[in-house]
Amino acid sequence: MGLSPAELSVVVGEMGEPAFRARQIFTALHRRRLRSFDEMTDLPKELRARLAERATTSTLTVESRYVAEDGTRRYLMKTHDNFPVETVFIPEERRDTICFSSQSGCPLKCDFCLTAKLGLLRTLTAGEIVEQIVIALNDAYGVGAKTPHGTNLVAMGAGEPFLAFEPLMKALGVMADPDGLHIVPNRVTVSTAGIVPRIRELAGVADRPHLAVSLAAPTDELRDVLMPINKKWPLKELLAACKEFELSLKPGERFTFEYVMLDGVNDSDVYARQLANLLNRHQLRAKVNLIPHNPAEPLPYCPSPEERVESFKAILEAKGVQAFVRRPRGRDIYAACGQLAALRTTVQPDLHQPA
Ligand code: SAH
Repeated sequence: MGLSPAELSVVVGEMGEPAFRARQIFTALHRRRLRSFDEMTDLPKELRARLAERATTSTLTVESRYVAEDGTRRYLMKTHDNFPVETVFIPEERRDTICFSSQSGCPLKCDFCLTAKLGLLRTLTAGEIVEQIVIALNDAYGVGAKTPHGTNLVAMGAGEPFLAFEPLMKALGVMADPDGLHIVPNRVTVSTAGIVPRIRELAGVADRPHLAVSLAAPTDELRDVLMPINKKWPLKELLAACKEFELSLKPGERFTFEYVMLDGVNDSDVYARQLANLLNRHQLRAKVNLIPHNPAEPLPYCPSPEERVESFKAILEAKGVQAFVRRPRGRDIYAACGQLAALRTTVQPDLHQPA
């Protein structure tokens, strides 16, 4: 699933098959979203058997599926070597968003995030990234069925996408192919906790996804505690890299800061003013998404009350910083930001259907 059409050509070439077979297989896997060679009935039976001997079309298996009251679906999958992978399908009126994981677990130790408690288990391959999207679309619409509206992707599941940079970029290339899923980078947002060299690197990439940067605090003192990666790349360096990225944007394009709102921790009016001043000082025009904390045992935080979030937002806006409040999705099934930790939650039996 992680091979480009050109790489597939090499594989079929080595098997003594004509090049057009590569396109056929690529289309079968990515546009028709077939999950086994056996289903590719447009290939000679003998070729299907030879393919099945040397390759696999799918390596992820779905262990559980949870459906939230708001229609959000969380898939708990596992890799061939038994590591958990989580994917979230978020239906919206005019589009769907699929939130995928780039790593099993995560090496960063953000204090408010449940995934952090797993530690890093393993970085996912390009194929495992693409497969997550295929599995979610097949479950939502049926195998190979046309999707009724556009699909947006966010690399905001488990893991730090910029520590999975190569497989991530590889997967995005495969998914952009018009013969396959045809989800172009412009429909993808990659969220980072602030891996500065990769932000700079992405600034130089022409056909690239949108960028979101998780801030969570406007001072090094607080960010060191909430997001220890800040000790390696403190705010000054992070925001300088963000500025460089901003300068590479096309007219009208913007990038996003995410700010998780933790009750009594980072949500005061003083912090709001500091945040606005910080962004203004660095002359950043990025918008800020305020994300109320999604609580989860054993995280020692609570979501900020609504009035607090509104007051915080008003201060940012009064200082010329555009801010939006994000509505949490799928909290009841542990599908929301920062809640992905391979949990087998108990939900109403009729909603919990192993796939
Ligand atoms: N590692 C990447 C992407 C995954 S997290 C990153 O840090 O950006 C996606 C977003 O969810 C981040 O902005 C993160 O700060 C936020 N988040 C993490 N835990 C959360 C929680 N418990 N409640 C709300 N948002 C959370």
